Amino acid sequence: MKNINIGNPFQILFPDNCVVCKSSKMMKDIPLCVECFSKLKFVSGSLCQKCGRPIDGKNEDLCEDCKKNDFYFDFVRSVYYYDDITSKLVKYFKYKNVKYIGDFISNSMYMKILSESRLQDVDFITFIPQSFFKKFNRYYNQSFLLAKNISDLTGIPLISDLIGQYETFISQAKLPLFLRKKRKKMFYSLKKNFHCEKILIVDDVFTTGKTLSDASEILKKDYSIKQILAITFARS
Ligand SMILES: [Zn+2]
Ligand SMILES: [Zn+2]
Repeated sequence: MKNINIGNPFQILFPDNCVVCKSSKMMKDIPLCVECFSKLKFVSGSLCQKCGRPIDGKNEDLCEDCKKNDFYFDFVRSVYYYDDITSKLVKYFKYKNVKYIGDFISNSMYMKILSESRLQDVDFITFIPQSFFKKFNRYYNQSFLLAKNISDLTGIPLISDLIGQYETFISQAKLPLFLRKKRKKMFYSLKKNFHCEKILIVDDVFTTGKTLSDASEILKKDYSIKQILAITFARS
């Protein structure tokens, strides 16, 4: 594990203005101003043992969602809540490929991994794949870049091409919640000759848990991976 600060100390091309509110009172090496940075909300407190949803005040291990659904993942943790600030950071990174935002996001996730020993105890790191159509339009897969950065920082090897994503012409994020829960399978197995005991999936946002669960199902059924852990930058 490397010793780093949040933000990338080697990044020289930093913006003069906050990517969220355009203020010029910037935090050093962070794409946010002092005020926006201070508004970021860490996910903390009593969390669901499985998906990481806050269950403050309840003396239980699992949240209502995890009791109702048979999610295939075993343990998910997220750095921040999904709000105006984190959604803007993710959006800029996703659609504009802004490197310093990707560095900030992956460094924040790395700090979270350092604070959760269970997330460090894995054999490989992987990421949520993208369909060819989306890749073609966006030119790169942002989850791959985050996973690559986190692999470099932790020294945990990166494995790709385990699962593929079916073509979808409407972004899942644009579908109403009830349709997102109902939709068919998103992924298929690429049937690579691969096996390990524990794997960490890197993704940007945890919403319903369906995407991570679908990917985890393939990793468990087709690759006999025993434990699927995941880290996301934000969660709703
Ligand atoms: Zn700001
Ligand atoms: Zn849960």
